[in-house]
Amino acid sequence: MGVRPIVLYPDPILRQRCRPVEQFDAGLRRLASEMVETVHAAPGLGLAAPQVGSDLRLFVVDLSVGEDPSALHVLVNPVLVAESGCQVDAEGCLSIPGITERVARPAEVRFAARDLDGLPFELAGSGLLARALCHELDHLDGVLFVDRLRGLRRELAHRRLRRLFGTPRGLPAMAAPRAEAPQLGQ
Ligand SMILES: [Zn+2]
Repeated sequence: MGVRPIVLYPDPILRQRCRPVEQFDAGLRRLASEMVETVHAAPGLGLAAPQVGSDLRLFVVDLSVGEDPSALHVLVNPVLVAESGCQVDAEGCLSIPGITERVARPAEVRFAARDLDGLPFELAGSGLLARALCHELDHLDGVLFVDRLRGLRRELAHRRLRRLFGTPRGLPAMAAPRAEAPQLGQ
């Protein structure tokens, strides 16, 4: 148990497509528990397994940042089964500290997933919860929020990424500065 270092852009693990969880065992529980500790410590609203160096399809979301146990969601092998509407709001990522951008996301979503015992459940969310769930699902497919930008805003964001983090092969992966906008980090 413990807080794990958060993998930072441009570490290649953030670009991997993660593999489904098949073993619902003690190792998975430990990983999930460390991810919860890590996202609370950051502090952030959500964290996906590749952000702590794992390639499993698993993420955690907690909009209360540890204040309300009922707000903590752990989704294993999550699938987006329904979405509707559109919302545009500011978004950041614990793996890309210092950058926030307005990103379009579905206004309402419904996810199907497994819990840590392998039991199926569904989770519906709107607003910020929908945004956080979609942001974390993207991580499991190697997609980062800056990839969701279009046109000039995408170009400017990638220019800032290069300025902040160097070329994609430039940086050591594990040194984790604090996010500048922790309330937005996911
Ligand atoms: Zn993120």
